[in-house]
Amino acid sequence: MAEENAGLYIVFTGAPGSGKGTQARILNEKYGLPQLSAGEMLRAEAASGSELGESLKDMLAKGEIVPDEITIAMMEKRISQPDCAKGFMLDGFPRTMTQAVALDEMLKKKGMKLTAVLDIVVPQEIILERILGRYTCMNCGQGYHEKFQKPKVYGVCDKCGGTEFSRRADDNRETVENRIKVFKEITYPTIPYYEEKGLLRHIDGTGTIESVHKRIVQVLGLAEK
Ligand code: AMP
Repeated sequence: MAEENAGLYIVFTGAPGSGKGTQARILNEKYGLPQLSAGEMLRAEAASGSELGESLKDMLAKGEIVPDEITIAMMEKRISQPDCAKGFMLDGFPRTMTQAVALDEMLKKKGMKLTAVLDIVVPQEIILERILGRYTCMNCGQGYHEKFQKPKVYGVCDKCGGTEFSRRADDNRETVENRIKVFKEITYPTIPYYEEKGLLRHIDGTGTIESVHKRIVQVLGLAEK
């Protein structure tokens, strides 16, 4: 990881489809900061065939909050890995007040402190269009969108040349509507918690991926790359 980014401990929050994962991924590619995506970790566990994974499948399919003890233990284990010693970005964690308080405790134990909580703000009408059109290269994970971000050559990944793509099973209208509801009712209450701590930064999440990225770089005071 680039030394210039040492000590950046960032939380990405915001509704599903606000661009948390996309933006964290770009920062990871440009600045080397590890991206810790709770959703990706849970999907990997579900795909692993483990007993825990099997128990997650239904919750993930419905867009329900996975029990706090599972996500908290998973994140604590992940941030204890050596690549996280000098900073990381949490994407999709914390999603509940219990998780927010547990995060404070685990960071305190490690002598770490949050730098900023970035709340990516996107109007609801845009969210559905974004999520229902998105898909990913199965080989390298590069994200695309039917309307806003097509590969340069139809059916071929710009990044790795892969030709197989997939959509997330929970990116269907019914589940997305539930995920938005869960965000408003359960995750949104963590926002005033971080506001009181002086950590919250609202980021306008509308416009192109590049323009949102530039806003984040500016808010974090990073050198542009
Ligand atoms: P995401 O990839 O962030 O959209 O998350 C996908 C799904 O994983 C969510 O709809 C939840 O079912 C589950 N999930 C992700 N992060 C958490 C979390 N921090 N706590 C509980 N459930 C989560």
